[in-house]
Amino acid sequence: MMITILSGGTGTPKLIQGIKEIYPQEEINVIVNTVENEYFSGGYIAADIDTVMYTFADMIDERYWYGIKGDTFHIREKLIELGTEELLTIGDQDRAIEIQKAILLEDHTLSEVVEFQKNHLNIKAKIIPMSDEDSDIKINTKEYGEIEFHEFLIKYGGEPEVLEVIYSDVNPSPELIETIEKSDKVIIGPSNPITSIRPITSIKGVEEALKGKEVIAVSPFVGNDAFSGPAGKFMTAFGYETSSKGVAELYKAFLNTLVIDNQDAQMKGDLEEIVPEVIVTNTFMNSIEDKINLAKVVLNME
Ligand code: GDP
Repeated sequence: MMITILSGGTGTPKLIQGIKEIYPQEEINVIVNTVENEYFSGGYIAADIDTVMYTFADMIDERYWYGIKGDTFHIREKLIELGTEELLTIGDQDRAIEIQKAILLEDHTLSEVVEFQKNHLNIKAKIIPMSDEDSDIKINTKEYGEIEFHEFLIKYGGEPEVLEVIYSDVNPSPELIETIEKSDKVIIGPSNPITSIRPITSIKGVEEALKGKEVIAVSPFVGNDAFSGPAGKFMTAFGYETSSKGVAELYKAFLNTLVIDNQDAQMKGDLEEIVPEVIVTNTFMNSIEDKINLAKVVLNME
């Protein structure tokens, strides 16, 4: 049974750690958000794609869900010593992956580059960028006007009030729609609904393709809080409640099943007015057992 997972770079990779323990990688496709991609410091950063690759290759630095565990920072230190401002903290091995992307992108598409790198890392799952085109995400904030997403997160610590999230309209990568169409099940991981998932689902043809499929999503919220990060602010800016109810509303056009946390069990009835099926379980993914248990629920393998 072929499954497709829609992913950002923190919540869904945690679920992927569970899925890959119990499901053959050859039958897994992951469609990954690319709006945060950018050229930086001589390399091409595809943060969410790299996190998904490193997760499959058991190399991810789980402290940050970014970069390679045990990496060194010699190039960063030297660059700073030489007077370069390095807003992002990039390790040496991670940088090599990014530099190679920049080199290969000179005459290959992003899909081809990712296929090349993931094969090199011996990853059997298929990793598909949502688009091969340059995309961009900007946050319009009350305090600083329109700023880059990285600035919002790192320079300003996710603090500014979000008025609007603006990302480019891009065409799907060549395999995106066909991959969804060929899947027996689509899993929307617990990623940021506005900055990670919506950029994928709003690409032309994706929503139509999802409508014909069995689609299950895991909520990234418990009560009125995200498990981590600024997802709540973005939901508010888009006029959605910061909760699993907001997620249900946002995905309702194509969602069959929403998985919510035990702590939100009282919401089940209300949510079933919005989506056909609601599953209540533990959605905190702290240990590998948590991740495997949630993967079993999502894959209906309990
Ligand atoms: P980004 O690309 O780094 O922004 O990461 P994602 O969009 O993939 O993931 C961010 C989301 O993951 C946040 O909204 C969190 O609420 C969610 N998240 C993080 N850890 C967990 C967890 O253990 N369980 C669930 N259900 N969601 C989580």
